[in-house]
Amino acid sequence: MPNPRTIFEKIWDAHEILKRDDGQSLLYIDRHIIHDGGFHAFGMLREVGRKVRQAKQTFGTPDHYASTTIRKIEDMDDPEAKEKVQGLAVSAREFGIYHFGLDDVRMGISHVIGPELGITQPGILLCCGDSHTSTHGAMGCISFGIGASEATHVLATQTIWQQKPKLMRVTVTGKLGFSVTGKDVALALIAQETAACGTGHAIEYAGPCVSQLDIEGRLTLSNMTIEAGSRTGLIAPDDKTLSFIDGTEFAPRGKKWDRAVKYWQTLPTDDDAKFDAEVTLDGSAIAPMVTWGTSPQHAISITEAVPDPEKEPDTEKRAAMKRALDYTGLKPGQKMTDIPVDRVFIGSCTNSRMQDLRNAAEVVKGKKVKCWSMISPGSEQVRKQAIAEGIDKIFIDAGFEWRHSGCSMCVGLNGDLLNSGERSASTSNRNFEGRQGPETRTHLVSPAMAAAAAITGKFTDVRSLMEEK
Ligand code: SF4
Repeated sequence: MPNPRTIFEKIWDAHEILKRDDGQSLLYIDRHIIHDGGFHAFGMLREVGRKVRQAKQTFGTPDHYASTTIRKIEDMDDPEAKEKVQGLAVSAREFGIYHFGLDDVRMGISHVIGPELGITQPGILLCCGDSHTSTHGAMGCISFGIGASEATHVLATQTIWQQKPKLMRVTVTGKLGFSVTGKDVALALIAQETAACGTGHAIEYAGPCVSQLDIEGRLTLSNMTIEAGSRTGLIAPDDKTLSFIDGTEFAPRGKKWDRAVKYWQTLPTDDDAKFDAEVTLDGSAIAPMVTWGTSPQHAISITEAVPDPEKEPDTEKRAAMKRALDYTGLKPGQKMTDIPVDRVFIGSCTNSRMQDLRNAAEVVKGKKVKCWSMISPGSEQVRKQAIAEGIDKIFIDAGFEWRHSGCSMCVGLNGDLLNSGERSASTSNRNFEGRQGPETRTHLVSPAMAAAAAITGKFTDVRSLMEEK
């Protein structure tokens, strides 16, 4: 009998070409996604006169610098953003890789289009020059972010040197309640275990609540893995995974599909496989979450009040809490539902997929926003589908700005930023100081919670606005 293995070990073993004495393994890369912020890797290839080793396993899309209002490169007015978006387009043409440009309906945020186009599949090894590459693991693969020189190595050789991480399993028990989403699970986990809990580990998410999540929710959970300190998160593929991939542009077809499914069904972790660390989270106890500070671990249920640093026994943590409250301008004991918001952003690789938009639209339908609110769908395909379902109209009628796809206000490299001093309810993944612009305050929430904030002008328990079905 072969040793029982985790899904991570099965995929790692299938991709390990050789192992050095220092513990580093040379791994084969099945898919490489490059965004507009990473096009410089091609410059290094040019310098050494190399080609892309597997051009048809390499995919480029502009996301970090993509304008959410202007969709022709020549019309872009920010010279830096234009250079980046153009640089990727030119390199993609020169090296013959796939490229989904600003005017292509397949364009979108790297971590949204991968799963959506079937580029991301169970059992593969995927990398991208962005730390939220952990997202793709929700489809049952190993995925991680890489740096510029690693990207050049992958372009030239289709391989990468990596140290095998330790393995952690996060089991989410129970049943998720009404309006509780993958985002709430991720924030609850990080609040319980800290933003460093996964350091040095690859995290496998398991348990009934993970099975209960739709694929969009799983992608959100895996996306936030890096906020828990780990580069890789993954979820065993099941029927939901297969139906999400089936029929997508890069999915196998016919006999190849049957063969692939047969292999994918062997991937889930064996019963007696061992993990280096085990964490349990009670999914039934999770409520819609909101952050109050400057780290994703500064998260509480919307029903709670801002915590009091004086009650924190650990000196270092107490000081960090005080600093965070000073920055966010909140007071201990203040109810989260009493805090007004200036802007609402629904977008980013964390929460901008079709189901995210549907969840938000359900809250917004027939109501008007009380503060400036915008939506940037995660991809142009999501945007197109939302228009087909009439969801765009719900948002526009409510007073939302309905934009095109890109990273947008998650990081603001395209100019979509908050004004200094403003407070946002944001569906993105990072709330550290200045993330959405200098002196801005970011509070992380799910799309439904962001929609609730938009129509009430303050943080609101979305459950109080909705009827449980
Ligand atoms: S949406 Fe934000 S976190 Fe995601 S890839 Fe873009 S900048 Fe990075």
